[in-house]
Amino acid sequence: MRYSALKVIKESLTGHKGWKPVWRSPEPKKHYDIIIVGGGGHGLATAHYLSSQYGIHNIAVLEKGWIGGGNVGRNTTIIRSNYQLPENQPFYEYSMQLWEEQEKDLNYNTMVSQRGILNLFHSDPQRDAYVRRGNAMLMSGADAQLLDQNGVRELYPFLDFKNARFPIKGGLLQPRAGTVRHDAVAWGYARGADSRGVDIIQNCEVTGFQIKDGVCTGVKTTKGEIKANKVAVCVAGSSSKVMSMAGMNLPIESHVLQAFVSEGLKPFIPGVLTFGAGHFYVSQSDKGGLVFGGDLDGYNTYAQRGNLPVVEDVCEGGMAIMPAIGRAKLLRKWGGVMDMSMDGSPFIDRTSTKGLYFNGGWCYGGFKATPASGMCYAHLLATDEAHPKAKDFKLNRFLSGKMIDEKGMGAQPNLH
Ligand SMILES: Cc1cc2nc3c(=O)[nH]c(=O)nc-3n(C[C@H](O)[C@H](O)[C@H](O)COP(=O)(O)OP(=O)(O)OC[C@H]3O[C@@H](n4cnc5c(N)ncnc54)[C@H](O)[C@@H]3O)c2cc1C
Repeated sequence: MRYSALKVIKESLTGHKGWKPVWRSPEPKKHYDIIIVGGGGHGLATAHYLSSQYGIHNIAVLEKGWIGGGNVGRNTTIIRSNYQLPENQPFYEYSMQLWEEQEKDLNYNTMVSQRGILNLFHSDPQRDAYVRRGNAMLMSGADAQLLDQNGVRELYPFLDFKNARFPIKGGLLQPRAGTVRHDAVAWGYARGADSRGVDIIQNCEVTGFQIKDGVCTGVKTTKGEIKANKVAVCVAGSSSKVMSMAGMNLPIESHVLQAFVSEGLKPFIPGVLTFGAGHFYVSQSDKGGLVFGGDLDGYNTYAQRGNLPVVEDVCEGGMAIMPAIGRAKLLRKWGGVMDMSMDGSPFIDRTSTKGLYFNGGWCYGGFKATPASGMCYAHLLATDEAHPKAKDFKLNRFLSGKMIDEKGMGAQPNLH
């Protein structure tokens, strides 16, 4: 079904009886060309691009829960391409370009809103670091502007410029960054893939791999065994659990990250804002709620819920730069399990088992990567060659010490 203004008007006049389910609920077949394990944003985007760009349609996406129930529907919806390292920046800029054409590609309103992201800086060395990052962004074709204090004040006049413990000196602005409605991304990709024959099978947990003589020939699931020429794992926070079933020990830890939403307020935050002297970031949703977050809870877990000390810590971060939010009520919060890699950068790679592929290690930042990750994973699966934009996201980089340590923090997930 194609959506159009005419269809919306017709349905609103006839009781909305003509809408059909957006994807089918098929039973699994015995064999597929490619099985994608995990129906999150990355798995569904991979299925969409495999079928739309590489002409492969005999695909199943196996999801243990429901589409959008993982991190793709739990994140704080921020997209940006403000990275610095040459292994990362071109990839994230590519993703930004795919976001910019996504709604047209999917014929689906994912509410891409390029409202800009502003990273505040609070010291001269931090300004210098942002200048370097901004230059790296410009060199990869992205947009970046350095604002002084007056420039920040024009955009965000309500910030605390007078009494702050960490005075605001300026900020690095990326005007093309912004937010996208997260669960619509999952639904849009699912709809696109399904329309080209991809089977999206929900409530189907992968419980093991069929591996013989170093070759993966299928998976064991709660709906029985399914054969495949290629198996592509894409399970974000469950990466270490799932890959251990294939005998792999990954350089990834799972941590919980929380998100918060306040009561609805009149619009006053124009874009996405991040605090540079603590871990706090915020935007305002179209319904008026402040959507914000901060640090990991800081211990290993697979639980999709967090604890109160982090609530306090994140709210303190917010109060440090915008005391006005002290009067807003916190409405709800939730947690998602993050696949924190040891250098803060992801993997899109083959494994040592033939026919078994891995995509993960997205840390806090995998939502913005969704389109490029899907495209690059699809390219790898279809051609067995790394996509040029993701050629460094290799599993063996830890063997050679060729880390992609964007923040220069070492193997400390809480600092990435
Ligand atoms: C609170 C929070 C805020 C965030 N904010 C941002 C942000 O603002 N910007 C940004 O870029 N990123 C953000 N992220 C990170 C981003 O959401 C993730 O990196 C990204 O969504 C991960 O990829 P995914 O969508 O494929 O994951 P998921 O949606 O988690 O998909 C993985 C799927 O695999 C399924 N699965 C697991 N095990 C199995 C199995 N055995 N069999 C079958 N299926 C299985 C899961 O059920 C899940 O649906 C945030 C994350 C959280 C939790």
